[in-house]
Amino acid sequence: MAIQHELPSYLRPLETGPWGDYLEQIDRVTPHLGPLARWVETLKRPKRILIVDVPIERDDGTIAHFEGYRVQHNTSRGPGKGGVRFHQDVSLSEVMALAAWMTVKNAAVNVPYGGAKGGIRVNPKTLSHAEVQRMTRRYTSEINIIIGPNKDIPAPDVNTNEQIMAWMMDTYSMNQGSTASGVVTGKPISLGGSLGRHEATGRGVFVVGAEAVKRLGKDLKGMRIAVQGFGNVGGIAARLFSEAGAKIVAVQDHAATLINEAGLDIHALQNHVRHHGSIAGFAAEELKDQAAFWELDCDILIPAALEQQITPANAHKIRAKLIIEGANGPTVPAADDILHEKGVLIVPDVIANAGGVTVSYFEWVQDFSSFFWTEDEINQRLTRIMQEAFAAVWQLAEEKKVSLRTAAFIVGCTRVLRAREMRGLYP
Ligand code: GLU
Repeated sequence: MAIQHELPSYLRPLETGPWGDYLEQIDRVTPHLGPLARWVETLKRPKRILIVDVPIERDDGTIAHFEGYRVQHNTSRGPGKGGVRFHQDVSLSEVMALAAWMTVKNAAVNVPYGGAKGGIRVNPKTLSHAEVQRMTRRYTSEINIIIGPNKDIPAPDVNTNEQIMAWMMDTYSMNQGSTASGVVTGKPISLGGSLGRHEATGRGVFVVGAEAVKRLGKDLKGMRIAVQGFGNVGGIAARLFSEAGAKIVAVQDHAATLINEAGLDIHALQNHVRHHGSIAGFAAEELKDQAAFWELDCDILIPAALEQQITPANAHKIRAKLIIEGANGPTVPAADDILHEKGVLIVPDVIANAGGVTVSYFEWVQDFSSFFWTEDEINQRLTRIMQEAFAAVWQLAEEKKVSLRTAAFIVGCTRVLRAREMRGLYP
């Protein structure tokens, strides 16, 4: 009798996943790269891919195996940098795309890093706290050979947090024989984490969103916003927008979609999520048809969950005039075209959600110098970097008559390929 095994996800096609979207984005930017286009193949091939088996002993004594990844897409401008995701849909295609988007993002906001990303294909909610710790430590030991404060610096992403960064830092330090706080960012403050890091991605989304609203000649006050995802990015962005006078008229997470024309009470909703793990059960009207979220009447749409959410199936129904991509890769290229034709402005992920890695950079710098900045200093520097990056991309988009995404890719890819060319090919 033949034994049936499920194929590991890395043996399934890559192009149909997010990596295919990324390749198409690179094809779209290539005509704008001038002589540097000679090097563009560099961006279509990750520098290094590590696939690891992550076995753990479950609390009940059985053994479980998980697929783990660390992809270093590019290191032309500096060490690899990017988060680690724990999610049941993590795949090689996804981690490759997320690593590549980190390369473009880090270059677009000009932090001195290449791009990398990691992940484990697991739903961490099905594991106990102790099991998550064992899995994190084993994963860190397995990727230990390619990470390090000057090589590749992981950080939080979907379903990973300060505690997981603390375990990663400790595991790496134990293997090295000395404390290496610069090996990960997004750490707890007590272990060399940075003030403002926890809020940084959401704050960056807010800063570029406010800039885009200004450029459109509108006032943020009273604007109606729908947010998909209510975690570290969507939840914090929603709070900052509502504090600035906008109304959060809809929030969707993995469990529910809530609507309120008068604006949801974001503080109360955050409290609810802290206690219940999702927005489900909060006292507000629930939209039963999850897909109808995209058709809601609003001025600004903030996808802040996972990639490939806005597709040709829903793009033509979107009523917002402005989309701010808190998530990585939420809009597939075919949907980009539909939205562009409809006159919807998209602030792309590689600018919109770059606040997180920007403060990760501040954390890394503070760890190296063992000198820590105030929260005000951090937020001011973050705001300045985000505003300047947004202004440069906006100006280029106007000059070249291209979308903000293409403009951001021109800025990012040009910086990466210029570094590539200056360094030259070895040997
Ligand atoms: N995971 C975040 C991102 O997608 C942050 C990465 C980092 O701080 O290195 O940008």
